[in-house]
Amino acid sequence: MKVEVAIAELRKSRVALPHPFGFVPTMGYLHEGHLSLVRRARNECPSVGVSIFVNPTQFSENEDLSAYPRDLDRDLRLLEAEGVDLVWTPTSEDMYPEAYQTWVAVEQLSQPLEGLHRPGHFRGVTTVVAKLFNAIQPDKAYFGQKDAQQAVVIQRMTEDLNFPLEVVVCPTVREPDGLAMSSRNTYLDPKQREAATVLYRSLSTAVQSFEAGERDAEVLRSRMSEVLATELLARPQYVSVADPFTLEELDGPVERALFSMAVHMGKTRLIDNMVVGD
Ligand code: AMP
Repeated sequence: MKVEVAIAELRKSRVALPHPFGFVPTMGYLHEGHLSLVRRARNECPSVGVSIFVNPTQFSENEDLSAYPRDLDRDLRLLEAEGVDLVWTPTSEDMYPEAYQTWVAVEQLSQPLEGLHRPGHFRGVTTVVAKLFNAIQPDKAYFGQKDAQQAVVIQRMTEDLNFPLEVVVCPTVREPDGLAMSSRNTYLDPKQREAATVLYRSLSTAVQSFEAGERDAEVLRSRMSEVLATELLARPQYVSVADPFTLEELDGPVERALFSMAVHMGKTRLIDNMVVGD
């Protein structure tokens, strides 16, 4: 497994690898969710690369950039064990040198949901992913459904900018009690960790209601909020029933829906989602 830092070296190592080349961008502190993307890439592609970069431009000033968990040695051991060919760990200085001033923005899809509560977040995400794509030139790129809006935004950007690659979205990996795996789960104390299953319980209630025939978006939203309200440690930021493709908030009867939410547990902000319908 090659580990590269500088972009010029990364390019050289990349061109030596066979096609199709599968790519998994991450911010590190890897867990089974990340590794599920790596395994999918490994199954589908003769060569696989992973980037580890805590991208400063997708964090706002009051967010957890400096506290974001990091353990590069452990990450490299895990990736080696998965048979990854190439790991790229760029520096912030190389990605955003002093005169840096170019941004990629997916204008509409970045506005609702996470975009409303994390202004500038998706501009940082799309900019860094475009830069990663340009440098590493994948044939396939793997993203998690855990970040549903991110997946939709990246798919739009990939089409709009004619990146010659396929975006593959992989299912959310959960802990045995339903909590979606996330590097941020390590911030939770034992009580918060227990309470954090409320997101899964809330989303599951909406899915069950939908499967039992409930179609009214407002009723489905209320069902999720009711479950969240049973958990005193949980402070919901938003609870949404949206179109899975346009991300527009839905009213009245729905045929398909993205149920999603952001919930604060103490200082930790958790997100999760589930999709129903075709
Ligand atoms: P991150 O390191 O948080 O930027 O995540 C890197 C990639 O892993 C993104 O495409 C995420 O959507 C994906 N990911 C994170 N958590 C999970 C999970 N629990 N299940 C599946 N994919 C995940």
